[in-house]
Amino acid sequence: MSKISINIATGSIEKKKVILGIDLGTTNSLVAYVPENQLNSEIISINQGNLVPSVVYFDENALPIVGASAKAKLIESPERTIFSVKRLLGKNYNDVRDHQDLISYQIIDDNTDSLVKVRVDDRFYNPIELSALILKELKKGAESHFNLEITQAVITVPAYFNESQRQATRDAGKLAGLDVLRIINEPTAASLAYGMQEKKNGKILVYDLGGGTFDVSILTLEDGVFEVLSTHGDTYLGGDDVDRAIAEFWLSGTGIEFNQLNNLQKQSLRLFAENAKIQLSKDVFQTVHVNWNYSGTDHEFQLNYQQLKELAQPIIDKTMKSVHQALSDAQISVNELNEVILVGGSTRFPEIYKTLSEVFKGVHINNQLNPDEVVALGAAVEADILAGNRKDILLLDVTPLSLGIETAGGLMDVLIPRNSKIPSRVGREYTTSVDGQINMKIAVYQGERELVAENRKLGEFILKNIPAMPAGLPKIEIQFALNADGMLKVKAKELRSGVEQDVEIQPSYGLSDQQVEEMLVSGLTHAQSDIELRLNIEAQNEATQMIYTAERFLEKNSEFLTTEEIQGSKQRIETIKGLLDSNNRHEISKAVETLNDFTKPFAERVMDIAIAKALKGNDIANL
Ligand code: ADP
Ligand code: MG
Repeated sequence: MSKISINIATGSIEKKKVILGIDLGTTNSLVAYVPENQLNSEIISINQGNLVPSVVYFDENALPIVGASAKAKLIESPERTIFSVKRLLGKNYNDVRDHQDLISYQIIDDNTDSLVKVRVDDRFYNPIELSALILKELKKGAESHFNLEITQAVITVPAYFNESQRQATRDAGKLAGLDVLRIINEPTAASLAYGMQEKKNGKILVYDLGGGTFDVSILTLEDGVFEVLSTHGDTYLGGDDVDRAIAEFWLSGTGIEFNQLNNLQKQSLRLFAENAKIQLSKDVFQTVHVNWNYSGTDHEFQLNYQQLKELAQPIIDKTMKSVHQALSDAQISVNELNEVILVGGSTRFPEIYKTLSEVFKGVHINNQLNPDEVVALGAAVEADILAGNRKDILLLDVTPLSLGIETAGGLMDVLIPRNSKIPSRVGREYTTSVDGQINMKIAVYQGERELVAENRKLGEFILKNIPAMPAGLPKIEIQFALNADGMLKVKAKELRSGVEQDVEIQPSYGLSDQQVEEMLVSGLTHAQSDIELRLNIEAQNEATQMIYTAERFLEKNSEFLTTEEIQGSKQRIETIKGLLDSNNRHEISKAVETLNDFTKPFAERVMDIAIAKALKGNDIANL
């Protein structure tokens, strides 16, 4: 199957094109491309900078500003300035609750199982929309650089991202008007930037220490194809922690506590600390002097390399623990490694290189490329490969159209995205939405539209005899396995009881190249409106589930509730019902949150009663 290039805006087939390589980072994002007839990629400067801070600020009219100007708002308007969106992608509230104190904007917890949303004034944004705003800024910048409309990109994600986080990244691209040709792992991108694929075989360790995250991955390269063997790390460890340690070290002699500082003071002190750290990375023999004014008093601080080293040591030690864990997970010993690659701005700190070269004696450590650019540079190499500009690289067989199943509201849930390598195997867990549900229909579709009605149906079957359980309790795993001859095997299994059912389908059966092309064009021309539709349907689904849960709760616990509580809840439920068909997800989310805020206090009270009863030997299973 050859690659077809399509203009997302017009739906026409294009001849000449630029495919962007995008590093959508937690702290900063970058764009790169490979100039025609060249092998090496280059960073595209956007708004006069190579790095675009991954920050979105919303003004009073809900208009977004992205990048350096948004970052500048972090101090004066922290509640309207969204950073670290990448950490929220594909996550629900339970996943991020423990780290909420690091976030200055409002995160919504209307339903702990659903994906997180960010609230600014009366508007609700999910991480996909926020990431899309960043991607739009990158696309716009690249378009003005080339003076050309750009519609295609390769986007990188951490190796530890799961399927739903990868899908969320694809959706963000779609919403930004980009056809995401491929999602690739950041360590693979870094390896491509260093031209590792030319060595054909080997074992590579990629050490990535950024601002707020650390991860290490072990890759194997076999016949020019990369595979991630293991990955380990800490999503809350990075250069920011070094800055914080420096700040606390300085404050230790003053009697001032870091936590008693206001936002502005914290931010200014952190900036001094970060600058001192960067200065010392460049010249280890100096002593940095800082004059910090606090409530009208000047404080003199200083820092030398030895002190910095001691402050950073616990952080380096933690990363080295992960390194050894990743090696043991991959079942690789230190002397089997062929290359180490350094990624992330914090690897400029000389101790990192020193520590790694002591542990990996004799292994080549790659740090010639700019560590905060290397991921984007590699994404551009992948883009160049996909564009067919590298004759030496063989493209593996890929599936031309996405494969997925129908979920609530008639939505297409993609399990194997188009352009995935064949063979490919993906599993995802689903559950029931109604109490006592014993059957579940699994309908398999192919295509790029968000509604299954617009896609091609490949087949369906019913998973029967699921034991009756409360909604949400069954764990139904759907597995898609696409083998080398293009046969798709779909299997559904309820994990608690073991009941299972499967079907085999030939997705390409009765499909001409012409039809594939038409389906691709249709998916791309409708991409943005489709995603809008999807977000609205998802909000409706969530609201429907909330109504179901709330009504059931009222029914079962009326004896413990006051008339005001029951009436107030019913009234709010009616408000949501009235909005369900409005296609206005902000209004729907707001109504859901209002109901949630209202019920929270007495829901907790009823829970306590239930637990007390249970301790006396009663049953809480029916609450
Ligand atoms: P992310 O992957 O989180 O988007 P980056 O790779 O851009 O982040 O790295 C940002 C981090 O790198 C910041 O903590 C910054 O202070 C740190 N950094 C940048 N330059 C240096 C330097 N010369 N020495 C030490 N740390 C640095
Ligand atoms: Mg990074």
